[in-house]
Parts: sequence; C-alpha cells; structure tokens
Amino acid sequence: MPESLLTALLWLAVSNAGAALPPHSPRPGGIAVITLPAGQEKPSASYNDKPVLVLADGDSWKAIVGIPLKEAAGTATLLVDREQAQAIEFAIEPFSYREQRLNVERKYVEPDQQSLDRIFGERRIIDGALNSFSTPGPTNLQFGAPVPGRQSPSFGFRRIFNDQPRSPHSGMDIAAPQGTPILSPLAGTVAVTGDFYFNGNTVILDHGQGFVTLYCHLEHIDVNEGDSVDAGALLGRVGATGRVTGAHLHFSTYLNGTAVDPALFLLPDTVME
Ligand code: ZN
Repeated sequence: MPESLLTALLWLAVSNAGAALPPHSPRPGGIAVITLPAGQEKPSASYNDKPVLVLADGDSWKAIVGIPLKEAAGTATLLVDREQAQAIEFAIEPFSYREQRLNVERKYVEPDQQSLDRIFGERRIIDGALNSFSTPGPTNLQFGAPVPGRQSPSFGFRRIFNDQPRSPHSGMDIAAPQGTPILSPLAGTVAVTGDFYFNGNTVILDHGQGFVTLYCHLEHIDVNEGDSVDAGALLGRVGATGRVTGAHLHFSTYLNGTAVDPALFLLPDTVME
C-alpha cells in the first residue's frame, strides 16, 4: 500500500475515533448506551432520579446508563436536560442469572447483633461512595483487568450461602494467588479504604460522573483515602479477607449508583501493567 494512502487511512481512523465505550447491553445488570440529541453543550441526563454519565463520542453525546439487577424487563425512560427536558425511552431485555450455592463460616450468614451494627455502618460508607457524582468523568470505558487470572462469569448470580438466599453477586471474581499486585484500570480518586465485615480489606475508586470501581478481600492496601491515582497505579494485593472461600479479587463496577457487569468494561485478554 502506498504510504500516502496509509497515512490518509490512518488519519480517517483517528478523526472518526469515538470514545472507547462499553457495548450496548440493555439487560438487568447491563448498560444502555444511548445517543443523545445533538448540540454543542453537554447535556445532563438522569435515570431513576440519579444523574447518569454522559460523554462525547465523536460529534455526538452518549449517555452510559447502568441498569440495576433488580430492574424488570420492559420500557425504561432516560430524562435528558437541555433547553427543554426530554424523555428518551429504551427497552430493557429480559435476562435470567444462574443460582450459585456457597458455604462460608456461619458468622457471615447469621451475624450477631454487634456485627449487624458494624455492617449497617459500613453499608452507609460504601453506599455513599457508590452514589458519588464528581466531575470531570472518564473519557475511556474500555480497559485491562486489574489483575491477571481467570475471570469467573458470576456477576448477577443469585446466591445461596449455607442454604440461605442472599444478595446477588455484584461483581466479578478473578482467581489470582495471594499477594498478586492489583493495578488501577483507570485514573481516579481513592474514595474509601477500610476493613469491612463482608468485603474484607477494600478500596473504592471514584473515576467521576458516577463511574466507581471496588476491589475487595485484599491482603494489603497500598493507597490512602483522598489519593489521586493514575491508570496502572498499585492499589493493593490480592488476599482472602472477609466473606470468601479462598484468595481472589472481587472487582465491581458501578454506574449511576448501580452495579453493572464488569466484563462489559474489560478489553479481552488484556491486563493492566
Ligand atoms: Zn465476589
């Protein structure tokens, strides 16, 4: 191929390049990628009364909407605020998640009152971070996994611990040996670090506009609350703290305060380095 043609093709590829977005996957626990009406000013959008991530994609604006696992299939409405408020309807498709049975120490299924008080306090801290809507926001939503290892497709599984139903699995488990470094997949701010009852040693990163990532069961935490981290920064090391059956990284991703399938953000066979 002549070099001039190659240069022209490359230029075309770059000039048409949009943002790296997750695939449109409008199911409970998935993501709706919705093109917003054209306009120079960035619009704001909300879903279920929560602000939604909006980013530029070439010449258009896209809303990246997290759909809660408990949402029913059917018609949903995104509200867009411009000069005039506008409602955009989209379809949520049915999807059924599998059941998973696990056995753990009894204290993780039937906590005593003191532990329940602790769990309640921790829930408030975690929910506060998951519902943050800071600015600016991410410009890239496709990245490598925070650790290498087999990624269990267990997001959304309806879980039964010691024969008792509990919340569905809100993230992805990545099998990795104790001590494996965990690297930040994107730039962000460390919103929360702590040792939590169920999650063990935990880091929560705020990437802006409601995109939040969470890392659980760490052996060791290498960041402090308030730190700014770059993509590739060391967050901590894989461990087996909290409610686990062995060493692994639990990795969760949140949009507009709701857990969505982390697999939708991960580039295939890519790991941060
Ligand atoms: Zn998990």
